[in-house]
Amino acid sequence: MKFRNSHSWHSNADERGFLRHSTPLLIAWIVISLLILAIGWTSLEKNLIHQKETAETAASRHAELLADAYAERLYRSLQAIDQITLYVKHGWEKAGTSFHLESITESGNIAASAGFYVSIVDRYGFLLSSTIINPLPANAVNQAYFSQQERSRTDFLYIGYPVQGIFTNQTVVHFSRKLMTEDGTFNGVVLVAVEPSFFITQFDEGVINSNRLLTILDTDRSVHIARIGERIFDSTQQPVSNLLPISGTKGQKILPGEPWFSDKRSRYVAWHTTEGYGMIALAGIDQEEVLAPYQVQRHRSYLYAGIASALLIAFSLFGTLAFARLRWRKHQLDAMQETYRAATEGGQEGFYIARPVENSNGDIVDFKIIDCNERGATILRHRRDELIGKTIRTVYHGEAAKGTMHLLRHALTTRHFSGEIEARIGDPSGLSWLYVTISKPDGDLAVTLRDISDIKKHVSELERRSNEDTLTGLPNRLWINNYLPGALESAQHSEQMLALLFIDLDGFKSVNDTMGHEAGDELLRNAGHRLKDAIRPHDYVVRIGGDEFVVIVEDMAHKIDAAHVADRILKSFQEAFRLSKGMHSVGTSIGISVFPDDGQDADTLLKNADMAMYAVKTSGKRNYQFFDAHFAEAVQSKHQCEMELQYALEHDQLIMYYQPRVDMTSGEISSMEALVRWAHPTRGVVDPAAFIPVAEETGLIIQLGEQVIDKVCAQLAFWAQTGQKLVPISINVSPKQFQEIDVADTLALALSRYRVPASLIELELTESTMMENRPAMAEALHKLQAMGVTLLVDDFGTGYSSLSQLQELDFDVLKVDKAFTARLEKSPEGKIFFSAIITMAHSLGMRVVAEGVETLEQIKSLKELHCDEVQGYFISKPLAPSERQQGTYETAAEFGIGS
Ligand code: C2E
Ligand code: MG
Ligand code: MG
Repeated sequence: MKFRNSHSWHSNADERGFLRHSTPLLIAWIVISLLILAIGWTSLEKNLIHQKETAETAASRHAELLADAYAERLYRSLQAIDQITLYVKHGWEKAGTSFHLESITESGNIAASAGFYVSIVDRYGFLLSSTIINPLPANAVNQAYFSQQERSRTDFLYIGYPVQGIFTNQTVVHFSRKLMTEDGTFNGVVLVAVEPSFFITQFDEGVINSNRLLTILDTDRSVHIARIGERIFDSTQQPVSNLLPISGTKGQKILPGEPWFSDKRSRYVAWHTTEGYGMIALAGIDQEEVLAPYQVQRHRSYLYAGIASALLIAFSLFGTLAFARLRWRKHQLDAMQETYRAATEGGQEGFYIARPVENSNGDIVDFKIIDCNERGATILRHRRDELIGKTIRTVYHGEAAKGTMHLLRHALTTRHFSGEIEARIGDPSGLSWLYVTISKPDGDLAVTLRDISDIKKHVSELERRSNEDTLTGLPNRLWINNYLPGALESAQHSEQMLALLFIDLDGFKSVNDTMGHEAGDELLRNAGHRLKDAIRPHDYVVRIGGDEFVVIVEDMAHKIDAAHVADRILKSFQEAFRLSKGMHSVGTSIGISVFPDDGQDADTLLKNADMAMYAVKTSGKRNYQFFDAHFAEAVQSKHQCEMELQYALEHDQLIMYYQPRVDMTSGEISSMEALVRWAHPTRGVVDPAAFIPVAEETGLIIQLGEQVIDKVCAQLAFWAQTGQKLVPISINVSPKQFQEIDVADTLALALSRYRVPASLIELELTESTMMENRPAMAEALHKLQAMGVTLLVDDFGTGYSSLSQLQELDFDVLKVDKAFTARLEKSPEGKIFFSAIITMAHSLGMRVVAEGVETLEQIKSLKELHCDEVQGYFISKPLAPSERQQGTYETAAEFGIGS
């Protein structure tokens, strides 16, 4: 069996195959292993028990043999001793005092060895004859071997326990037989004293080793002599219990150390009773000694078996673990695939699992699809069952195959990839955009696919739309922002110039205001067409907002080329536009910036072209102008002016001049016009022309207008307090003020603050002011009229209003622009024109004021034409309130005004 490590991702197939085939095998193997273990251990146990039993049987047998042999020897020894006692008894009884033991010894009938003594004791207990050399003087009357014989009626052999002999002073075992007189009375005893070792030492060392036991027991099982190994014990010492559980003449058994032996060693014992003397020979073999080889064997067997078992268990465990690991991996794999399929089936996501295919060198040459869901198969233009088993190279084609192979290989190392790919799948014409996510949870790659072709199409459509102005269909500001950088780069490359024509339609606002937004839109569409027609086919027209267009002129060799394009545009706008609501004429103000002279980047070029356009706007419109560095300076100075004006407003640097208006009939001052001045700390008194336009552009006009209203009311209050004759004062109001604030409210507040009646206030509005947002304007004007404020049309004739519109708004006075006054004397038409205005105004119930009256001739003409009032330098210049001189007006009267 071979286990692969987890990095070896291509082992999956092997693992699965292995799993499929080896599951029953492995289970069988584990069962067999366990069986082997069980059998092995049982047989080992059995074998050991058998070995032990054999050893024990052998030991018992051995003990038996020992006991037999010992009993045999003991019997012979006792018989020999018995014969000696009988021989001496008979000899003594026959020979009487002439019997000498010494002669017996010499005759060789009694072994005269050390530790073996024969004696004769008389009836009084005294030693008569003995083989003991120099016996001790003592009396044997109280010795058991004497007293028992004296008491006994029968002749028997006394056998004693090892005791201290009184004649030898040695430990000996006594044997005795009684002596009788001829008439049968007790006449002493024959005594044989033998050292205990005599009975036991016949067994050499080979037989008796350190723990073997030899014992002589009495029939009552009391111990006469015992020997354990080398050591011999007498009856006073108790190495063996007196009550050994033995019975019968012969037998064997195992006796535990406790309680039978003082050394507490268990023994196999065997016993044998000697014939005739009733003494029992008992041999014991030490169990530990017997079982020692068995124990060694057993220990070794256990060790080997233990090792073998451990190995087997380890092997089984390892196998099981490896198997479990494989199972788990397969389970994970299955679960993952299942999850993928379940999660993606029915949804938009397709998925497949790709397994690397290696060549013989271990290089990945392809990927095999081993699983997929229905959606995945559909995206890859296959049926699920036919896709499974195919490889990437057969599913994808050409570049897509290469690209996908690359992605999959890459994902093998990075473990993750997600991104969009454009893939040609199956049918070579079918190009799809896929969003692909690849992850590598295991050795295989899980690939999810989403067909984003539709989304892509949608996005590119959106992109196209976001780059297009919906109204005109022209490219828009977003487009130009994206396009210009590249265009500039290539212009730089080819060393060509590029021009931006910033085009603003003149008077477009009034189309919107007077004819409505639909007309405005229509005009913008038409303007777009005209612009396209005016440019070269490869140039672009872009609508960047409102009525602003930009034309990009590329591949330009000379600056003049841009001027030609501008000329064509100007010309194409000369003709009025035919709109569904009527004809309308708009012009174009064109500012031109040229790359590389006027800027290096798109923003600067656009900004500069815009600036040039603005210059055209402020210098008469309907023209074109190349960008000039001065424009930037103008912008800069305008900015400077704004800052200064802001400062002026905060530090009350504005003052009011007043210019009277005189009634032609009475010659009296009918009103005074309040005209603002800037008392500049360095530049002196600055005219409004220098700062009113800036104030209007920057919004400072609101603050300025409020200050003017306040100052006028304050002045009126002052004049009233100082008792001067009061005439109404007319205040110029900018259109911006009406757009941003409620002029009526502001005025009302100031009036009440200074307790000035509204009837003393007149407001001058230019025609353009009235043209803007007419309903709101009408409402504001009505509010003012309701307060009692007189309304004047200022600079009449410079705008596009018609008298009927003025009538609608119910104006009180018409101030005819000074340009018409100036023309009065220049040509007859001047007078005719002025006269027509006066006639019409009167018919509409308005008074007429002629502005800019500078000569007496003009006064006379105006009087002829029945002009109601005049205003101009001829009467008085605008003056500071303190400068007001009655004389000036008298001069006017001198010349016939009021008469
Ligand atoms: P406007 O309202 O038409 O004022 C008349 C302008 O003509 C004044 O110029 C005045 O000095 C000038 N003028 C008067 N008589 C003659 C004359 O006989 N010959 C010539 N050539 N000019 C004459 P000014 O004061 O420089 O004001 C210019 C414009 O500034 C005003 O034109 C008005 O539109 C605006 N303006 C002045 N003061 C204010 C103000 O307080 N608020 C606003 N919004 N605009 C103001
Ligand atoms: Mg005015
Ligand atoms: Mg005016």
